[in-house]
Amino acid sequence: MSVNQDFIYLSPPHMGGREQHYIQEAFDQNWITTAGANVDSFEKELSSYVGMPHAAALSSGTAALHLALLALGIGHGDEVFCSSFTFVASTNPIRYVGATPVLIDSEPSTWNLCPKELEQALHSRQQKGKLPKALILVHLYGMPSRMQEILDLCQHHGVPVIEDAAEALGSTYNGQQMGSFGVAGFYSFNGNKIITTSGGGALVSKDQALVEKAKWLATQAKEPTPHYHHTTIGYNYRLSNICAGIGRGQLGVLEDRVQQKRQVFNQYQTLLQDIAEIQWQPEPEGFVSNRWLSCFTVKKGSFITPEKIRLALLAEQIESRPLWQPMHQQPLYESCDYFGENVSNDLFARGLCLPSGTQLTIQQQERVAEVIKKCFRK
Ligand SMILES: *Cc1c(COP(=O)(O)O)cnc(C)c1O
Repeated sequence: MSVNQDFIYLSPPHMGGREQHYIQEAFDQNWITTAGANVDSFEKELSSYVGMPHAAALSSGTAALHLALLALGIGHGDEVFCSSFTFVASTNPIRYVGATPVLIDSEPSTWNLCPKELEQALHSRQQKGKLPKALILVHLYGMPSRMQEILDLCQHHGVPVIEDAAEALGSTYNGQQMGSFGVAGFYSFNGNKIITTSGGGALVSKDQALVEKAKWLATQAKEPTPHYHHTTIGYNYRLSNICAGIGRGQLGVLEDRVQQKRQVFNQYQTLLQDIAEIQWQPEPEGFVSNRWLSCFTVKKGSFITPEKIRLALLAEQIESRPLWQPMHQQPLYESCDYFGENVSNDLFARGLCLPSGTQLTIQQQERVAEVIKKCFRK
């Protein structure tokens, strides 16, 4: 695959400059493995940035969620609640551990999990006499969820919250970092996320035992004997010392990337302010999104569909993408119990993500805006 210079990609990686320095250090020390100084430092630096005392650097965000579920002892016969409006990696790990997903719809002010639907779902499970073992709460496109209401409900019922902050590193709610509210949180460092390790993820928690257990499971669950003795199924999920070096360089510029993503979003808003049919993903007071992707919906009843805009952009060598298709609409998950009024179905039908790279020039954003404006001219 070669990179087309004119093509505008959705969310390409953006190196900070220090990454190769940390990689070189790993080469110099010959630590070309899944342990080493970069892994330790990356975990410490991430912990201190997000304000969670313990972190495990892992091979992906999906692996982090899988290990969080295992470390919480979740398995066959258990239910796990999850935001329905998300990427499939939020729900698949529920199935990896043999548990049953219950899907919960969104609300319009954040596009994230609806506290009212959560309340109903909790109430229904309370009546059945069996509460879910966890809630996986997704902060989509970087937008924080309605934490106060959701945490109150979960605390009241004693349900642990695992935050899927894969898209929300650097976002805050009342000044607190996303991923630091629940019993555990996780991030993704996949190539298109706000910062990347080329591929990777991390689990964070206040609970040292939980993170220690996740690290143990991530390294084949070897018992503390000199020979290889095993009592538990383990995994090979650790991040390499090379990738962690990329991560250290990227963490150093995370704050800049958040500002740049927000700048890209604001620029689109300004460029397209005359088009009344475009409604941007809202950001309530006290919520700060990293604006990982700049997303909008087209007003109900508009003569333009997001698919028409997507195709017009593609014809001009510009990548855009529909919003996530909710899990309760997926063949894989449509048979799951679902609480909602199809707010997320409607967002999916009317929404689009625009190219949101932090190296976009104003000229490129104008190019994107011109194509969109043309679509709305009758
Ligand atoms: C990217 C992503 C994940 C998975 O992260 P990987 O590192 O790709 O495994 C999980 N949840 C959401 C919402 C994501 O966007």
